[in-house]
Amino acid sequence: MGTADLQQQVTEALGQRFPGVSARFFQAPGRVNLIGEHTDYNDGFVLPVAIDRQVMLAARVRTDARVRLWSVNFRQSSGFSLEQIEPDSAAPWSNYVRGVAAVLQQEGFVLRGMDAVIAGNVPIGSGLSSSAAIEVATAVTLRDLSSLDISPVDLALLCQRAEDEFVGMKCGIMDQFIAALGQRGHALWIDCRSLEYEAVPLPSGVSVVVCDTMKRRGLVDSEYNARRRECEQGVELLRQCLPDAQALRDVTSADLAKYGDILPAIVHKRCAHVVSENERVLSAVAALRAGEVEEFGRLMDLSHASLRDDYEVSCAALDTMVDLAHKAPGFLGARMTGAGFGGCTVNWVDSEAAVEFAQQVVRQYAEKTGVTPEVYICAASAAAGEL
Ligand code: ADP
Ligand code: MG
Repeated sequence: MGTADLQQQVTEALGQRFPGVSARFFQAPGRVNLIGEHTDYNDGFVLPVAIDRQVMLAARVRTDARVRLWSVNFRQSSGFSLEQIEPDSAAPWSNYVRGVAAVLQQEGFVLRGMDAVIAGNVPIGSGLSSSAAIEVATAVTLRDLSSLDISPVDLALLCQRAEDEFVGMKCGIMDQFIAALGQRGHALWIDCRSLEYEAVPLPSGVSVVVCDTMKRRGLVDSEYNARRRECEQGVELLRQCLPDAQALRDVTSADLAKYGDILPAIVHKRCAHVVSENERVLSAVAALRAGEVEEFGRLMDLSHASLRDDYEVSCAALDTMVDLAHKAPGFLGARMTGAGFGGCTVNWVDSEAAVEFAQQVVRQYAEKTGVTPEVYICAASAAAGEL
């Protein structure tokens, strides 16, 4: 189902739920991170692409302060007044919309009410960030319907705050940032400390293929928090030798070779991943700029090994998916993406063989595990905006 189908879905739903004449259409994309995993909360670098899967809103302004919503995916309505925005535990999907509206108002923006229907084809809960897509799609809708002047970077920051404070999910800035600032045909190199960014063109002839293990992230919250603590502990100890280090971003692999002995073994491994991963992102950007497609794939392979062996956030399903990719036609590189313990792999594949690659991986993964995976051949897509 592509953009045109989504637009048809929301058009029909708007006509049924909220009959009327005019409508405006807004979308925001999901994303996949090519390299730079578990670096965001260490003030490091990431390199995501916006993908050709989106959350879309068809919306119409109201003259009062009401917001009426219909979710096509959840087949459910939810409504609220802009004068008092509370979470709706009976329609949790609406909390992303409520949260964005609440945060915009906290910032002093004056919002108009609206009738809106929402539909998406970003798979939900697979790690392709359908949550950032619905937040950013909502934010551009409210911005444009109320004629607000907000930069894309601020929009991303407000959406992150909505997810953190209103929905109650702590998250980095990457997902909202790429949804608000991605560019067609490009990856976005983001410095998670300064929020500086650069669009890096992707070479023609290579496809980004996402393979969903269908294993849902179980352990992820407690393990994620444990990794964050281990990273903080690493920086704190390393500051004895590197007094200026604020985060692992400020530590190089040469530093770690020199001073790493002061770290407990586990903390050393965690730091080794983050420090080397940041360096791999820089190398990967250089490889893209130089047209070194194979080198880029090799860096993805190294990233996976580091996440598996040093950061220990992979799992059998992810490792199986990566192993099968290595033997599939057109393979150039593969790694787990997202927090780990399930979810998706991201693969760098010769475009001419991408369909064959996908078919073989699906067949072999199903044979091996009894689970049929979803596979998406992705196109690097544009940021959120009005259609
Ligand atoms: P991910 O971001 O990895 O897809 P999350 O658990 O962070 O998974 O976010 C998924 C939630 O976002 C859904 O449970 C739902 O509440 C909301 N959401 C995502 N897509 C849609 C959609 N198309 N319509 C309504 N709500 C959506
Ligand atoms: Mg999410």
